[in-house]
Amino acid sequence: AHDIHIIGGGLAGSEAAWQLGRRGYRVRLSEMRGGGDSTPAHQGAGLAELVCSNSFRSDDDAKNAVGLLHHEMRRLDSLVMRAGEEARVPAGSAMAVDRDVFSAAVERELSALPNVEIVRERVDVLPPSGATIVATGPLTAAALAQSIAGATGQDSLAFFDAIAPIVHRDSIDMDVAWMAARWDKGGKDYINCPMTREQYEAFVQGLLDGEKTTFREWEKDTPYFEGCMPIEVMAERGPETLRFGPMKPVGLDNPHAATPEHPNGRWPYAVVQLRQDNKLGTLWNMVGFQTKLKHAEQVRLFRTIPGLENAEFARLGGLHRNTFLNSPVVLDRQLRLRGAEHIRFAGQITGCEGYVESAAVGLMAGLMAVADLSGERWVSPPRTTALGALLAHITGDADADTYQPMNINFGLFPPLPDISKKARKEAYTQRAKADLGEWVAAHRALPA
Ligand code: FAD
Repeated sequence: AHDIHIIGGGLAGSEAAWQLGRRGYRVRLSEMRGGGDSTPAHQGAGLAELVCSNSFRSDDDAKNAVGLLHHEMRRLDSLVMRAGEEARVPAGSAMAVDRDVFSAAVERELSALPNVEIVRERVDVLPPSGATIVATGPLTAAALAQSIAGATGQDSLAFFDAIAPIVHRDSIDMDVAWMAARWDKGGKDYINCPMTREQYEAFVQGLLDGEKTTFREWEKDTPYFEGCMPIEVMAERGPETLRFGPMKPVGLDNPHAATPEHPNGRWPYAVVQLRQDNKLGTLWNMVGFQTKLKHAEQVRLFRTIPGLENAEFARLGGLHRNTFLNSPVVLDRQLRLRGAEHIRFAGQITGCEGYVESAAVGLMAGLMAVADLSGERWVSPPRTTALGALLAHITGDADADTYQPMNINFGLFPPLPDISKKARKEAYTQRAKADLGEWVAAHRALPA
């Protein structure tokens, strides 16, 4: 008998099991690796295996959003941060770990909790009842993915990430770009970056010449489907394809180019459009710009777009296999599946991105379940904290139409526009630390 069933012993599931298990709740943790199954990316059977890099990224909690997340997780006695510390290898201001030592430490700590039962089994259907946390990750096994899609509707479960780059609003030059909708229809909702013919042709050439990431072996069969064709693949189809596709200029008068003869301005030769990506209005995605260009190449090439010369990217484009929910629609503010509230989701399947973020969402799902089981009222961490900002983004603040997995970044935090850009990062982290302290003090289900 158990109090809660956690499916998936990766970063998120292990963290959730720890938060529940060390408070005395009986946990069944089902992990399919080690029971005859694996994923296309995992190598072994250990819990919390890091499938690619061995880095938890920046550990700077004064100026970096993921570093701040490390700090907050440590305050909440995160197992992933604790095991990470034990497995730490030198990496400057970043936190990198020995992946085998890390995985072994996670497994050792969980195995030492007598009320956590680790079972090597694959789960194929969502449990019809009983408290459950689903943390099966970006490579969720097929049968369970089908079961999830059945519960959420096919349209709410994605199997691929086709990500267009996302830009910080305050890094866009609005003396060059302007707000407008095509043909002036329905508000001035888009940010438009104009291009001349020369700029457009050079840009298309840049796309063709740019170095691309190659598909992994197991991704080769991935078909491009409408709506997520990489921009460089479109460019290969002909020099005009983009001008008739995502870079279409028609109906977009550029007021910066107004003349006495054309008081409304003129249509540029081509236009790059950005669409608001979060409710705060701090993040904007480049419409139709999903790409497999290498990251450095994207930064170089996209900064040649007028208005984006100094663009800072909250995330760059990509295309890879990734099972994730349209969480802003299908999950409530407590990560519960609408219509089947006994089931919570955690980790990358909720649409966060990254080892640390996945573990952080696992940590929160674990604490939410603790609140349920102990009869306490759950209060979410303040949005001004990294945990709260991530949770708010996943559970409703992101734009559901363009929802794509996201790393933690300061664009997810309530803005501090009155503070100079130079001092802003430190202001974000100071505010977060103070607010987290108050939240911890007020929330009894948490350690003092
Ligand atoms: P996982 O850590 O994948 O854990 C999910 C677990 O569930 C797995 O152990 C799996 O075996 C198990 N499982 C799946 N289905 C079932 C089932 N039906 N029954 C029982 N168990 C099941 N992030 C980074 O920060 N840095 C990187 O370098 C990085 N590289 C990545 C490379 C690839 C190829 C992928 C796919 C993702 C990468 N990520 C990276 C993103 C992400 O951070 C990791 O995938 C992270 O491990 C996600 O944590 P998770 O707990 O959500 O899922």
